[in-house]
Amino acid sequence: MAHQIGIVGGDGIGPEVIAQGLKVIDAAGVELNAVHYDLGGNRYARDGLVLTDEIVDEWRGLDAIYLGAVGTPDVPPGLIERGLLLKMRFDLDLYINLRPFSCGPDTANSSTVFGPDAEFDFVVIRENTEGAYAGEGGFLRKHTAHEIATQGSVNTHIGVQRCVHFAFELAMERRKHVTLVHKTNVLNFAGDLWERTFNTVAEEFPQVTTTYNHVDAACIYFVDDPFRYDVIVTDNLFGDILTDLGGAVSGGIGFAASANIHPGMVSMFEPVHGSAPDIAGSGKANPTAAILSGALMLDHLGEHQAAERIRAACSNPETLKGSTKEIGDMIAARL
Ligand code: ATP
Repeated sequence: MAHQIGIVGGDGIGPEVIAQGLKVIDAAGVELNAVHYDLGGNRYARDGLVLTDEIVDEWRGLDAIYLGAVGTPDVPPGLIERGLLLKMRFDLDLYINLRPFSCGPDTANSSTVFGPDAEFDFVVIRENTEGAYAGEGGFLRKHTAHEIATQGSVNTHIGVQRCVHFAFELAMERRKHVTLVHKTNVLNFAGDLWERTFNTVAEEFPQVTTTYNHVDAACIYFVDDPFRYDVIVTDNLFGDILTDLGGAVSGGIGFAASANIHPGMVSMFEPVHGSAPDIAGSGKANPTAAILSGALMLDHLGEHQAAERIRAACSNPETLKGSTKEIGDMIAARL
């Protein structure tokens, strides 16, 4: 049966790379029933629409959303991010942000730091609905010399527990190791809740070994020794920063895929990169990140075999050179 998918190509290179992703999914033999949504900076410039509650309600009935990139240089910064991407995360409660980082001869990436022969394979699970991004805080005496701005970090027991639980479940399918990354020595309230919750969940998974890293130490290990990691779990802000670092050490922006997941419910899959207006329309965009995000979507849909075949088809990136469409065609042809 065809999967019901919402497509948001978006702006700039977004529609270009999503077209390649859809072509590759089709070549892998997976049938999608796709509904296209015209959203993003261009749509906002045309009639002011960013994202309505009615569209979000429609999405609740879908299996997944496949998104290219949204944002144009002429739209005020933050408007599309908050009004579309964050609204989507919060309204659909996409509490897991999953970003895989793998490098080596059999993957799509070769490490920018360790060279083509280095092999590592880890996944960052970032809490996606709470922390410093929950919007808690405000101004006092704004625009005066005595202005105060506060930005709280919201950490609920349920929110942390469900995220940590997901990380342990994932580790059970992998090499059975989970690292908690936080800053417990300084963030003594939020860090304490994360650490206690992590330790309690760990008791349910006696086969899984665990480690704790302070976030500053994790930054060093990402560049120095990423081989040590299997699954990393961390909060929203640390995860945002660490995953960009992960992308930088493992092949660059053209290869970084991501998933925004609510297990068992409609979830959203997108490349990490933005709309790249500087190269839009030039055929220079690498579609691999979007194609690998499509593979994550197939995992979510239970199409694991097709997802694995797509990942394998993206390997040996040095043999995948050309325009956006040519790279998409080569990957599709390998299937
Ligand atoms: P956002 O804030 O939406 O993430 P950004 O402006 O920070 O956007 P990108 O749009 O990702 O970042 O672009 C950053 C740089 O990376 C640009 O020079 C862009 O051309 C390049 N880039 C982004 N995606 C790709 C891609 N798929 N292939 C090749 N180059 C890319």
